[in-house]
Amino acid sequence: MAFKPANNIQDLQYFGEFGGVNPSISDSSTYTFLSAKTMFDTFEGNADGCYLYSRHSSPSNLYLGEALAAMEGTETANVSASGMGAITPVIMQLCGAGDHIVSSRTIYGGTYAFLKNFTPKFNISTSFVDITKLDLVEALINDNTKMIYCESVSNPLLEVADIQGLAKLATKYNLKLVVDNTFSPLSISPAELGADVIIHSLTKFINGSSDTVGGVVCSTQEFIDQLRNVNDGASMLLGSTMDSLRAASVLKNLRTLHIRMQQHSKNAMYLAQKFEADGLKTVYPGLESHPSHLLFKNMMNEAYGFGGMLTIDVGSLDKANELMEMMQDENLGYLAVSLGFYKTLFSAPGSSTSSEIPEEEQKDMGLTDGLIRFSIGLDANIERTYNTMRTCMETLNILPHINHTKLAKL
Ligand code: PLP
Repeated sequence: MAFKPANNIQDLQYFGEFGGVNPSISDSSTYTFLSAKTMFDTFEGNADGCYLYSRHSSPSNLYLGEALAAMEGTETANVSASGMGAITPVIMQLCGAGDHIVSSRTIYGGTYAFLKNFTPKFNISTSFVDITKLDLVEALINDNTKMIYCESVSNPLLEVADIQGLAKLATKYNLKLVVDNTFSPLSISPAELGADVIIHSLTKFINGSSDTVGGVVCSTQEFIDQLRNVNDGASMLLGSTMDSLRAASVLKNLRTLHIRMQQHSKNAMYLAQKFEADGLKTVYPGLESHPSHLLFKNMMNEAYGFGGMLTIDVGSLDKANELMEMMQDENLGYLAVSLGFYKTLFSAPGSSTSSEIPEEEQKDMGLTDGLIRFSIGLDANIERTYNTMRTCMETLNILPHINHTKLAKL
């Protein structure tokens, strides 16, 4: 179990058209047929191995999809042009007018905005809830509820969803459990824990080079076929298709994901422990102080650690901004949104990636002004990074108790 997700990727074997060790890239938007009948059958989805038009499918996109399905342990997968291009069709496919969704209240700001502001136009309503409280989740389920939506590890507060507990509720009330696993690829395998649909923004850890946006939906053949249906499939008709050249490059990056995740997790754990010992309010699922530390531990594939995301609270937005600017000046990382890069990335989510969430609600869920979200990089010498970060914090008077002896040594 521990190594399984990465083994599943490693064990795939495919070759290029000329025996290349990488699959050939199909650089075409449309495909020719020797017979008109095969063209018709392909359009209807009945001609295996034939391609018609690259919004429908392309060999390169299928290769990437199959590798991601292997990673998540699902029957198949459908890649898309962005994470939102995976999330929005799933919601629109599973829900129609009059339907209701129970969603975690701490989710990526774009998803929150889609559920709060966009889907009501289609008469789809959403109740937002503290997803860590299963009794509250259950209390919100009604006859119209079709879906429970959450992130395994939430953006930005790093709340951990009890996927097995939520899956039980989904089964009990005949709902679909949709889990965005963007923050914890390899570490958590939601399908094994009972999730029906697993989504990733490939933009983040999976691609890992901050050079593209991308997304994927991993699920059963039946559901992916529904998304791709030419008559009423939301992925097909909303048209968020990944380009074949990109699919090929994401597939190559995917092969090193396990090594990168181990390093992200190792570095994040080191910094989280140091920050906590320094008296900073630190949130990291690997810390025993995290309210869901044991839950994460029980769900995780141990080899990949607790992930690369952590938050600290430095008290105010001004302090957070000063610290982030100074850390960037010291080349400790970049003041940038997104995650999963080789450099550390930091941002204040309240005024950036979660700014879609109204201030009152941010307060309610514990998203404070002084919160800094870190995506910890692949630094070879994390001790050096920590020492420089600590000097920045000391200079800005951020640490609760300055240890002058240690300062003098630096
Ligand atoms: N899901 C999570 C957890 C995210 O953090 C993001 C983006 O930040 C998305 C989905 C959306 O992905 P994309 O920007 O690739 O559309």
